[in-house]
This record gives sequence, C-alpha cells and structure tokens, in this order.
Amino acid sequence: MNKNKPRVLILGAGFGGLTAAIALAKIAKVTLVDRHNFQTFLPLLYQVSTAGLAADHVAYPIRGALRGLPIEFRMGSPISINHRDKSVKLDSSEEIDFDHLIIALGSATADFGIPGVTEHALGMKTIHEALTIRAEVMRRFEDLCRFNDDTKLGIVVVGGGPTGVEMAGALAELIRGPLKGDHSHAAANINISLVEAGERLLPALHPSLSTRTLRDLEKMGVQVLINTAVAEVAPRIIKFKDGAQIGAEITIWAAGVRGVPILEQLNIPLNRGRIDSDQTLQVKNYPYIWAIGDNSGSVDENGNPYPMVAPVALQQAKFVAHQISQLIQGKDLKKFKYRDKGAMATIGRHKAVVEVKGLRISGFIAWGIWLFLHLFYLLGGRNKIGTIADWSWNYLTFDRGNRHIMDTL
Ligand SMILES: Cc1cc2nc3c(=O)[nH]c(=O)nc-3n(C[C@H](O)[C@H](O)[C@H](O)COP(=O)(O)OP(=O)(O)OC[C@H]3O[C@@H](n4cnc5c(N)ncnc54)[C@H](O)[C@@H]3O)c2cc1C
Repeated sequence: MNKNKPRVLILGAGFGGLTAAIALAKIAKVTLVDRHNFQTFLPLLYQVSTAGLAADHVAYPIRGALRGLPIEFRMGSPISINHRDKSVKLDSSEEIDFDHLIIALGSATADFGIPGVTEHALGMKTIHEALTIRAEVMRRFEDLCRFNDDTKLGIVVVGGGPTGVEMAGALAELIRGPLKGDHSHAAANINISLVEAGERLLPALHPSLSTRTLRDLEKMGVQVLINTAVAEVAPRIIKFKDGAQIGAEITIWAAGVRGVPILEQLNIPLNRGRIDSDQTLQVKNYPYIWAIGDNSGSVDENGNPYPMVAPVALQQAKFVAHQISQLIQGKDLKKFKYRDKGAMATIGRHKAVVEVKGLRISGFIAWGIWLFLHLFYLLGGRNKIGTIADWSWNYLTFDRGNRHIMDTL
C-alpha cells in the first residue's frame, strides 16, 4: 500500500511546512526537514525579546507535533536539489528522494542594501535573535543603573508594520513598568523611537487604525517618526535620508523580510527573493516542486504577490496537499485563492487594532480578540498554559518575570 504513495519531501517545518506534512500524512510518504527540532511561533517572538514570555513557550518540538503520524523528520538543512534524480542533499550528507518537493523555508531579515543594517542592527526572526535583543536591552539598562547621571539610552525600532509597532509598544511597557520599578532614574533615561519610511504606521490596515496606533504609542512615551527613511545604521547612530540622525545604542530592524538566502543555492527560479511560482503554486518550469508561504512568489488574479503572513502559509499548505491529492487521482489542478481574514496588531495593555472584512475595532475588545487568537493558534497545551501563566502574572503584577541576561557564562 505504502509503496504506491508518492514520496513528498517538505523543506521547513514552520507554519506552512508542518501544516502541509500533517495534511499529506494519509496520502503520501512524507519526510519533513528543518534546521531546528522545534517550530517557532513567530507572532509572539517580540514578547520573548521584551521579557513578557519565556522563550520555550513559543517553541514546540516538531517530533511532538508529528507523534502518531507516519511522517519522517530530519533535522538539517538542504544543500542542493538534484533535478535529474529528484533528490535533495542535506548538510548531513543524506540524500532524500522525492516525487514532490514542497519548499517552505520562510524568510530572513531584508536590509534593502542599506549600509550598516547587517553589522549594527538586530533582526528578530528566530528565538536566538529575540533572546539577543532581550539581553542587549537588559545589559544596557544595567549599564545605565551604574552611571546614575543623565546618560541617555536610545532604542530605535525600524519598521512601522505590526512587528515594529508591537515591539515598540512592548518595550515602552517594559521600561515604564518593571524597569522603572527596578531603577526609576535609569528607566527615565531610556528613549524608545519607532521609525517608518512610509506616511503611516500599519499600512495594511485602514488609516483610522494607523492614527489610533500612532496616538496610543505616543501616549506610552514612544517617539514615532513617519516619512523617515533610514540611509545608514552606524554604531550608536542612525542616519536618515533627509540628513537628520538619531542616537541608537540599540537598533532593532523590523523593516522588511525576504526569502531565506539558502534559496539562492537551490537552483530554482527566483523573483525578488521569492520562488517564481504559478497560481497552482507549482514552481515555474518545475511542476513537481511547490513553494508555499513566505517562499511562494505566486500572485493573485490582479498580479499582486501574497502578503508574508501566517494565514497565507497555512492556506497554501492545505491547498498544495489538495493539489497533490488531485494529481494522485488524475484530476486537474486549481489556482490558489487567498481568503483574507483580516489583520491585527497589539500596541500594549488594553490597546490593539483589528480589521476584519471592513469591520474596524480598537482598544480593549481588539486586545481581547488578539489575545484569544494568538493563544488559539499557539501549538501545544504546555505552551498555552505557560503563556497564560506569564500573561496573567504580567497583567496582575505589572511585572515581567523574564528579564534575565542569559547569554553569558
Ligand atoms: C517577528 C515576526 C512576527 C510575525 N507576526 C505575525 C503575525 O502576528 N501574524 C501573521 O500572520 N504573521 C506574522 N509573521 C509572519 C509569519 O510568521 C510568516 O508569514 C509565516 O511564518 C510564514 O510561514 P512559512 O511556513 O512560510 O515560514 P516559517 O513559519 O518561517 O517556517 C520556515 C521554517 O523553515 C526553517 N528553515 C529556515 N531556513 C532553513 C534552512 N536553511 N534549513 C532548514 N530549515 C530552515 C525554519 O526553521 C522554519 O521552521 C511574523 C513574522 C515574524 C518574523
């Protein structure tokens, strides 16, 4: 029975890859590959970097998610695709044969060629990077406590999308709350700024929600600079295109994403950092390779690329599983259509914005919706309970229990 099933190799066990693997388990012989042995719940990463959540609450063991399913897992990274033999070589030297290959390797921080971003800014794409940001913020805070003078610490978040907004808001709450309680003089000397090149924050949402977000952040003490494009990130300073500059002991880069660099080695067609794919989600000229989520460069009926968000990855994963099932049954392939369920961002305690099919909500109700949905999609009972415990503690005590600097011996 098993030998009649197609062999499907999936690269990446994030939102898209893991969903595709589970959806295909019954109809194919699935092998899943990831460089980590856990899946990261990226939407809550900013809470790890601002001491709101313990890191292991946003990580879920991949083998745990696959338990009881006939799916093979390999921890490793792809090195090359052999198109003639239909196999992928991993960095462990293992070669895995496939009939279908699904590429779901996600994205990396995009520096848009701006000098100094790679060298002097901190990205936030992995748990390791989130913990680095937390350690940097806490270490600079400890320095400030020693000085006891008017030395200022500038923390600048670049990028006014949901990640940048959530990051700036959470930093403001960390500093005006727990750090103020630890050492009020030092906390008062920390300035947080949010820099956005476009004319408004959260450009994917209605302008009224952008205005509300700006107002809320400013009330929380964040300096928001819009229409401000970064020209260079230098040590302790960010230079803008209009000639102005701002002090930045810490620069957090939340300004953009692009396909992971490994895609360039895999000998597949790329378009603007994503994999050039048809509306069927098949890679151009390679009908046995599929690209999903952040890697997919397929476009909608108006020719627009899909946003790099979790719902796209989840829907495309299920869609590709269905497409492969169609092929097994000798049926025609379909074109992918994205069902946009809306967008949201949280700004701080009781403050969030949500837009669903023209319905716009802000404030406490939006915050409640945001909390519920993130808890719902978080993998694993242990992680949900841990997250509820951390959130309840933070809410009731105004404290953040995860302020450790854990990267030293
Ligand atoms: C900080 C942050 C916050 C976000 N917040 C939201 C949000 O609130 N709402 C929302 O909808 N979207 C959000 N997103 C976007 C969303 O997380 C992505 O669109 C989604 O994860 C894409 O799914 P994917 O399967 O394509 O990639 P991912 O979920 O990123 O999975 C990629 C997988 O590939 C693995 N991988 C990468 N490189 C290699 C390699 N060389 N070898 C082996 N494995 C590799 C990774 O370990 C990972 O497991 C956020 C993203 C970030 C970075």
